[in-house]
Amino acid sequence: MNNHKVAKERGRAAVHMPCDQKKTSRINWQSQCLKARYGEHVWRLGIDAGFTCPHRSPDRQEGGCRFCAPDGNISAYQKTKTSVPTIAQQIERALIFTQRRYHANAFFLYFQAYTCTNASTEKLAQIYGNAIDVFWQTYEKLNPTHHIPPELHTSSKGPLKGIIVSTRPDCFDQEKAKLLAAYMEQGMEVWVELGLQSAHDQTLSFIRRNHGVNVFVDAMDIAQRNHLKRTVHLMLGLPGESRAMMIETARLVANTGAEGVKFHDFRIVKGSAFARGFLAGEITAMHPSRLPSLLADCLEVLPPSTEIVRLSADFRPEESINIHQPMDKHILARLVEAELARRDSFQGRMFTGRRPT
Ligand code: SF4
Repeated sequence: MNNHKVAKERGRAAVHMPCDQKKTSRINWQSQCLKARYGEHVWRLGIDAGFTCPHRSPDRQEGGCRFCAPDGNISAYQKTKTSVPTIAQQIERALIFTQRRYHANAFFLYFQAYTCTNASTEKLAQIYGNAIDVFWQTYEKLNPTHHIPPELHTSSKGPLKGIIVSTRPDCFDQEKAKLLAAYMEQGMEVWVELGLQSAHDQTLSFIRRNHGVNVFVDAMDIAQRNHLKRTVHLMLGLPGESRAMMIETARLVANTGAEGVKFHDFRIVKGSAFARGFLAGEITAMHPSRLPSLLADCLEVLPPSTEIVRLSADFRPEESINIHQPMDKHILARLVEAELARRDSFQGRMFTGRRPT
């Protein structure tokens, strides 16, 4: 069976339902779904919990995927020029930032940087558990009048709605899935974010992912069997990929029944292997004016229930080599909505997989 058939066969049990936002948007935005679930905006507190990546050198500095940022893609507001701050410092900084600026009071702890399942299950339990404890200590220090009963510390009924763990498909197994499922059983919303980028083995080999599409399909299957929500990272505009190949990638992800998708547009990040390739004249990058219709094509083939986390990469302008001026994410979102409206279309219109019953 090819990867598409395997993905479709295994993804057909997905029962994730779209949230009711069709009146205002043609895209099933995760931000709106979370608002519908919890009655308020939910913020991701992205942290670097000190994980390494099995695909980079032990000090995290060398090797890895050719597009990967030297800092393993940590949130912009957590970036420092010196050493990595402690988890407590990162959580405090993120809470102060989101609470002061947006009056935030609903959060996900987002294990974001590098490969956040790259340790033994015992060690992972210690790291996740410690971060949750630190969240509560910090939250109570910053909000002394908000007393949250301890039984709500691992329940989505309190301010901490859940955890998100970002990882590689080849660093995820049944034991790790069970550990994450235990947080869900305690009442948290739990997401695993799997990097795929492309559903074409020749592209995965070119961008040096060091795993094949079949490994991704297996990891999605493990996560689904443990009832974890799954977000897939896709990259549009990778060197050597045609429009048809990118839509084919979206179709494969649709067949897995992924509950979430995070689109990135390919950026030549300073310090990455692709930056060296660009300077050597080996690669170039797609013009952002191609993105709205390409994203509309991909959204049309995804299930209507898949929550869209974002449509483009999130780098500061000085972090990448910008052959073309990157498009502002709000402008891009408006252009994609407009393109879907022009087609009288919406996310899921061309989805051919089995729909939830
Ligand atoms: S797996 Fe993730 S952290 Fe590791 S090199 Fe690739 S993109 Fe970077």
